[in-house]
Amino acid sequence: MDNASALDTMVAQYGFSEPIYVTRPTMPSLEAYTALLEGIWDSRWLTNDGALHTQLEQALCAYLATEHLSLFCNGTIALLVALQALGINEGEVITTPFTFPATPHVLHWNRVQPVFCDIDPATYNLDATQIEACITPDTRAILGVHVYGTPCDVDAIDAVAQRHGLRVIYDAAHAFGIRYRDRSLADYGDMAVLSFHATKLFSTGEGGALISHSSQDRRRVNHLKNFGIAGEEAVIGPGINGKMSEFQAAFGLLQLENVDAEIANRRAVAETYRAELAGVPGLTLPPQPSQTQLNYAYFPILVDPEGYSADRDTLHATLKRFNVVARKYFHLLCSRYACYAGLPSAEPANLPVAERIAREVLCLPIYGTLSPDDSLTIARIIAELPERVFGNRP
Ligand SMILES: *Cc1c(COP(=O)(O)O)cnc(C)c1O
Repeated sequence: MDNASALDTMVAQYGFSEPIYVTRPTMPSLEAYTALLEGIWDSRWLTNDGALHTQLEQALCAYLATEHLSLFCNGTIALLVALQALGINEGEVITTPFTFPATPHVLHWNRVQPVFCDIDPATYNLDATQIEACITPDTRAILGVHVYGTPCDVDAIDAVAQRHGLRVIYDAAHAFGIRYRDRSLADYGDMAVLSFHATKLFSTGEGGALISHSSQDRRRVNHLKNFGIAGEEAVIGPGINGKMSEFQAAFGLLQLENVDAEIANRRAVAETYRAELAGVPGLTLPPQPSQTQLNYAYFPILVDPEGYSADRDTLHATLKRFNVVARKYFHLLCSRYACYAGLPSAEPANLPVAERIAREVLCLPIYGTLSPDDSLTIARIIAELPERVFGNRP
């Protein structure tokens, strides 16, 4: 059989009738949401510290075991405000190129130049041993990202920051509910930001939160997310509108009731993938960090074209034939965007690990309502393709 007809045979055997996307939100009961909407209709309080907003903030503080949390309209504005609140609005900030565009963009919007540092091949996060070499007299902070929920080397980053008087901010958009050394991962750093976007583990459609570490910082953040308004006749500075509405908070309250079940269901998917893919030559499975209670928000694999006998792009395109829509997060690297590619630190030769990971990574579908049978089928497709289609016959 030639490769094309071998693929047709496999698609007939394993193909899905509907697309399986990389993620899909688990919806709360519409009845329960409607009941909360009735409360909003009665009170006519739609935003600005409404009752549901207050309730969600308190519930999240309890769930995440943190004290100072501010809700936001999305994670990007929360990051923007974190930098403003810490006075980081000039100079340079060291960050990773292996992230979502929001991370370097918030630096740009704060008139800060991103300085890209290479990543650790084991965690895909900032390589803490290379941060010091990126420091200049203009460096103000380190902006780390806990990519796919794997903790950054928080101790090493902290040590560098202490030595050089830098602030540490974490983009914890992937880290909802993760506990690291018995503490919420979002609790590390001077400030950290969560995203509640529809594609994230815990979602309010659009939304986010900023975690700080003193009531003073929290107050400042809350002023900044409300135009700088600090009272009927006081505006303390150039704030922005970063507020979360009651409709989002209502959705969040119901999502929070289900989040432990969501994590457990994703964990089952991750375990199926792991069991089926562990022996496949050329594949690297997601990092399994120690002392960490994961949230299974993502299942990134690396595809080594030699060992697997097809490269990541070929696997990605071939999976689409089966109606499996995996995603190449994070390819392109941020350092490759036209707006940053001219920076000295964006030179691909400076970022060899990030360049390779971006070339090899593929995030497989994972979400709470993905059935065990379907995740098993996806894993079998990936495991059998080399032998049956890509021509890697023993
Ligand atoms: C999703 C995401 C963001 C942006 O969050 P929004 O809530 O969509 O604004 C920022 N950083 C990372 C790493 C993300 O994955």
